[in-house]
Amino acid sequence: TKIYLSSPHMGGSEINYIQEAFDSNWIAPLGPNVTGFEESLENYLGNDTFIAALSSGTAALHLALILLGVERGDEVLCQSMTFSASANPIVYQGATPIFIDSEKDTWNLCPVHLEEAIKDRILKGKKPKVIIAVHLYGMPYKVDEINEVSKKYNIPIIEDSAESLGSTYKNKKCGTFGDLAILSFNGNKIITTSGGGALVSKNKDLKEKAIFLATQARDNAPHYQHSEIGYNYRLSNICAGIGKGQMEVLDSHVGLRREMNQFYKDIFFNTDTISVFTEPTNDFKSNHWLSCVTIDHSKSGFTSEDIRKALLKDNIESRPLWKPMHLQPVFKDAPYYGSTISEHIFNNGLCLPSGSNLSSSEKERIHKVLVKFANTK
Ligand SMILES: *Cc1c(COP(=O)(O)O)cnc(C)c1O
Repeated sequence: TKIYLSSPHMGGSEINYIQEAFDSNWIAPLGPNVTGFEESLENYLGNDTFIAALSSGTAALHLALILLGVERGDEVLCQSMTFSASANPIVYQGATPIFIDSEKDTWNLCPVHLEEAIKDRILKGKKPKVIIAVHLYGMPYKVDEINEVSKKYNIPIIEDSAESLGSTYKNKKCGTFGDLAILSFNGNKIITTSGGGALVSKNKDLKEKAIFLATQARDNAPHYQHSEIGYNYRLSNICAGIGKGQMEVLDSHVGLRREMNQFYKDIFFNTDTISVFTEPTNDFKSNHWLSCVTIDHSKSGFTSEDIRKALLKDNIESRPLWKPMHLQPVFKDAPYYGSTISEHIFNNGLCLPSGSNLSSSEKERIHKVLVKFANTK
């Protein structure tokens, strides 16, 4: 049987909330599960957060850009090393992404190159509208440093927390740092609604505006009247039922993912050519959504591809890291600020199976393959 990188892991009560939806005939993109899931997320994140449950994390990013006034011709600063969904909504709005390199400690947005980009874009005649910062693989970005740049130039942050529900920075939860934040509940994320996302805001008006836009922007009238362009981005009451059940097991899933990270640290603890990606200081606590390694192939004599192929031989899925956006054919003309940090991480890294539902025999299979690479020192 195949071992997946990250597969859905149900807690058990999800099916009861779905049954409730059927019993009450709430088979719609609204209903008690949607409201209940939002409340559960608001309680979890705390800090007076207001959550709008949406059909995907991508939809949440799109609405976040709209709420921050991003329009045709604007420029948006975006972490280059990320999943394409962080950047695509910039293009939906007719704006231009400006990609920024990562720093080595967290693999996330480099505050130095971020400031360099802002200065240069202003010099070239246009001040960027928004910063999109990502907590990649669950690792918090350098929140204080990025916030400082954001404040200095008065540019709001969209915090892409799609991969980092349950992570913290200085004991504060990821998803609470940006002017707006987004979450994803896609099938491979730390909790899933089979497909879904959320927009996190700091006030009720923004939440209501997001829900208004997500439900076709209907004005308050008995007939269908519209003064704005709307979207069909609300979460289904069925999917939200899965989400309500998943919230009951979120903390335990974070614990299990972190155990997977320790599992890999134990395998490679004595190997100086393979590094398990880990928190730079105690200020950072990653949910370790995916555990990643980087290989120093000049010393090891093998590459991340060699490990990937060896795992695949035993039907174990692993995957190269996110290929930076500035290296993607579709974004080849977008401006880029930085050096080769993200490119280097991409070229030498690998994501390993990280699910919270891996059995001990599955871990044994993974161990068997990896230990061969660990002993080549
Ligand atoms: C998954 C993901 C998204 C998009 O979320 P969807 O719910 O799949 O649309 C956005 N950003 C990052 C970093 C992601 O990993």
